[in-house]
Amino acid sequence: MNDAPRIGVGLDSHRMEAGRRCVLGGVEIPSDAGPVGHSDGDALLHAITDAILGACGEGDIGDLFSPSDPQWKDADSAGFLAEALRRASARGFRPVSVDTVVVAERPRLGPWKERIRANLAGMLGLPLDRVGVKAKTAEGLGPIGEGRAIEAHAVVLLLPIPTQDDQQSRDNE
Ligand code: MG
Repeated sequence: MNDAPRIGVGLDSHRMEAGRRCVLGGVEIPSDAGPVGHSDGDALLHAITDAILGACGEGDIGDLFSPSDPQWKDADSAGFLAEALRRASARGFRPVSVDTVVVAERPRLGPWKERIRANLAGMLGLPLDRVGVKAKTAEGLGPIGEGRAIEAHAVVLLLPIPTQDDQQSRDNE
């Protein structure tokens, strides 16, 4: 039955290296270091993609886009998210709420988080108030605090896509 809400969680981390492009939530951020990854290393899109896949029973990002597969080398992670949304939709679900946290010492994300949020809302087809982006630092602790890694967390809520029958019964109420 497709009538119950589904919830999914995603977590992703990447090593940061000097001279790499820094893309987060599909937004390119000026930075002297960026995430190392087989794809573009967009930890935030990877966490959201995993949360959606998990919520609709479609496995995880590594199953779908193996880091050992050359076809995903330097891939734009927006394509991963689009595929997760397509799979959710094929199972009769759509995201209605997405909340995220990015933990990074560098670059400082505070000035960028609203832009990232707006970009995510566009990609997810959601109004801005259903998408959250929190930017945290690690207070200098551990590899993230030392600027050597970045981490992103995401939680998504999926609801069944209303059918024509649902619409009709609502119109008749
Ligand atoms: Mg990743």
